[in-house]
Amino acid sequence: MTIPPGAGRFAPSPSADLHIGNLRTAVLAWLFARATGRRFLMRVEDLDDRTHGDIAERQLADLAALGLTWDEPAAWQTSHPERYDSVVDDLAGRGLLFECYCTRRDIAAAPRAPHAPQGAYPGTCRELTDEQRAQRGRETGRPPALRLRTDTTEYTVRDLLHGDYTGLVDDFVVRRGDGVPAYNLAVVVDDAASGIDQVVRGDDLLASSPRQAYLARLLGHPEPVYAHVPLVLNGDGARLAKRDGAVTLAEIGVADALRLIADSLGYSAHSVDGMLGEFDPARLPRSPWIFRPDAPVP
Ligand code: GLU
Repeated sequence: MTIPPGAGRFAPSPSADLHIGNLRTAVLAWLFARATGRRFLMRVEDLDDRTHGDIAERQLADLAALGLTWDEPAAWQTSHPERYDSVVDDLAGRGLLFECYCTRRDIAAAPRAPHAPQGAYPGTCRELTDEQRAQRGRETGRPPALRLRTDTTEYTVRDLLHGDYTGLVDDFVVRRGDGVPAYNLAVVVDDAASGIDQVVRGDDLLASSPRQAYLARLLGHPEPVYAHVPLVLNGDGARLAKRDGAVTLAEIGVADALRLIADSLGYSAHSVDGMLGEFDPARLPRSPWIFRPDAPVP
């Protein structure tokens, strides 16, 4: 019997051109997938950035220019809204959602139990009666967000770089008040729909992974194995951003970008195929890569 290979993926949001840090994360996601015989898929996370198709196309072109390959045409989230709606309906039918009228400010100002975990939704709307809900709706004049009624406060995921990582699971939003599926729902639904069983991404998302894995289990999906890779920082130790200067592929050039990424990972090959030959997850740098855009290219 042959076991169908799983898949890894890269899932950029089309909010801005990819910078060298995003490109490096994409290369790592590709290396992890290919080194383990997995397929590699590309997903444009355009639920939030619907008007930036041009940016998405440039992101895909940049990734291809580095030599990355993916096994199906890139999937665009906005092309299948019904996929998220049906999961929301399923969760609602199971009594696992509640309507929430809170603004960010309400949440920040809400009284908390003394030992409530930092950053957790305080539960304000969780147990409202129908009457109270109707009143909150009239008061705010806004459609409610939908939150998941969770039965735990934490969950443990397996991460190839961080080991067992236990993090917060609160009653998180699955559909925003404006009707847009929330990131934490969309990512789980999309990964499951395309057979993703390996999630490699920046470690700024490590803290979201327990919520996502918890939801995957609730929906009956296998949990992916995670690898949250260190981010790229600028010379001041802040997260690299476009305003730091020459950080995009158009500014750096393909050959120099590949060389910089390879150097940062300790590889001598300056192509992604060459890096694949040298790839060893156990030897990956565990600390952020400091990138100084103004420094002369070595
Ligand atoms: N779209 C997210 C981002 O660009 C990544 C989501 C993910 O990899 O799960 O930060």
